[in-house]
Amino acid sequence: MTGGPWFVRAVEDGGTHRAEAEYWTADGRVRIRPVCDSTTVFTALNREPVAVPYYDEQRCPVCLAAAPEPRTTRPRHLAVVR
Ligand SMILES: [Zn+2]
Repeated sequence: MTGGPWFVRAVEDGGTHRAEAEYWTADGRVRIRPVCDSTTVFTALNREPVAVPYYDEQRCPVCLAAAPEPRTTRPRHLAVVR
């Protein structure tokens, strides 16, 4: 990965969280361990990482606070890594 932190959408609470660690499954899903709760693992709704959370109402304040200066990150800068 390049470009710093990335965010994923969680199914459970509709939030957008920053990934502390990710694990790719054989069928192409990404399992996320979020910054706000490292004991939780969820499957990301988005298949590709997003550099900034794109739904304002779904941002997790804990994960957002852990991200250094998210406003300086370009929202369309995506990288697909396989
Ligand atoms: Zn979070």
